[in-house]
Amino acid sequence: MGFAQQSQSHASDQGGIPQEWALVCQRLQAELGDATFRSWIAPLVLTSAASGLVQLAAPTRFMKDWVASNFLDKIRSYWQDLNPTIDTIDLIVKATSPGAVTKVQVATRDPMSVAPGEEVDIEGSFIGSNLDLRFTFENFVVGKPNELAYAAALRVAESATVQFNPLFLYGGVGLGKTHLMHAIAWHIKKCHPERRVIYLSAEKFMYQFIRALRYKDTVAFKEQFRSVDVLMIDDVQFISGKDTTQEEFFHTFNALVDRNHQVIVSADKSPSDLEGMEERLKSRLGWGLVADIHPTSYELRLGILQSKAETLNAVVPKDVLEFLAFKIASNVRELEGALNRIIAHSTLVGREINLEMTQDVLRDLLKANDRRVTVDDIQKRVCEYFSIKLSDMQSSRRSQNVARPRQIAMYLSKVLTSRSLPDIGRKFGGRDHTTVLHAVKKVEELMGSDKEFLEDLTILRRTLEV
Ligand code: ADP
Ligand code: MG
Repeated sequence: MGFAQQSQSHASDQGGIPQEWALVCQRLQAELGDATFRSWIAPLVLTSAASGLVQLAAPTRFMKDWVASNFLDKIRSYWQDLNPTIDTIDLIVKATSPGAVTKVQVATRDPMSVAPGEEVDIEGSFIGSNLDLRFTFENFVVGKPNELAYAAALRVAESATVQFNPLFLYGGVGLGKTHLMHAIAWHIKKCHPERRVIYLSAEKFMYQFIRALRYKDTVAFKEQFRSVDVLMIDDVQFISGKDTTQEEFFHTFNALVDRNHQVIVSADKSPSDLEGMEERLKSRLGWGLVADIHPTSYELRLGILQSKAETLNAVVPKDVLEFLAFKIASNVRELEGALNRIIAHSTLVGREINLEMTQDVLRDLLKANDRRVTVDDIQKRVCEYFSIKLSDMQSSRRSQNVARPRQIAMYLSKVLTSRSLPDIGRKFGGRDHTTVLHAVKKVEELMGSDKEFLEDLTILRRTLEV
């Protein structure tokens, strides 16, 4: 149904719209905080409205896209709380003066057909609205497993000149990559507010690139990214196998590095282990400083728990913290989640935090963690142990220095996970289940006959079972 038609039948509905928008803004400001609100919501201008539909204009395409992917759901849902008849929030690009709510005009054409505007460049320094306030250097607990990554991140954030380019941070899920990236962005924002920083996930990068292609706007897209002082792309593995986006990223990357502008990238694997990534990109990603975050140690987990409990002003007995640090070894996110859960539980039911209640409240989580080793973990650990590449594990290479570790990894997958033989075979480059069976038998045989082999295996198994 057309916009004009709707507005005719419900013309009287419009009166409250500007006021509703003001209320929605208030709520957004309270929730997002002043800085985010000022950057992303305040510049939006209410341009038209009719029953069921409101139209907001953003001054640039970049902002429009950002608002669409980060805040639109929230805007819609807040608006619907005030006025359930609103079902569509239409975002357009229009160069307008930001600020107060403008007079509401009734649109004369279907807003869905409004073409995106031309203006796309970003003004001033732009830091992603999606920075988490808690992810600062001050809140990052440093230990052996992450000290290199931390030092490198701090150096890049503090130094006025580009020292290594790119900085490539990598590590497993929930080990603090995003935390460090945000910390760098916050630090630059505070100490060098004139520097233009963009932080975004590789997924968002792709999303914006695809939009640019669709609207034939790639020139503006390129300029936008190439004009920044610091470009931070989180979870770059996301663009593995996505050739066009990779190509674009590669050019953006080169343009920035050539101009000596800082690029910071995170991923879940080292550059050389990024599968589905072009060789030339892999190689360039490894040119600067590559810093990995190792799986947490018991001491680091304990340190994080202590710091977190302190921040939350919660009294948590030492034996509970130790118990959690011992039991939840998978990642920091889960560790924090566990602590939050027991604190929340204790506040809600007024129960004192102790070991017994912890075990009680976290029963499912602890159970899951008990047998949480995955084939991926095993492959990764075995590769580290024998210093071979992850890709070798899945390749068809049969040389002894690769084949033996592969058999060990297959054996460990069989005894430490509940995956079936065909399943395991698939995880090893699509091998047959009989190959896995053969590996298991071979390893068992060697365990009985080769003492050194048995030792290797015992150590590996122990590190996986912690
Ligand atoms: P990743 O991006 O590597 O998957 P995140 O950076 O999102 O992981 O970290 C997951 C959670 O763990 C976040 O809440 C983060 O603050 C926390 N975290 C991770 N490492 C640390 C650390 N060393 N000190 C404090 N908090 C940490
Ligand atoms: Mg992350």
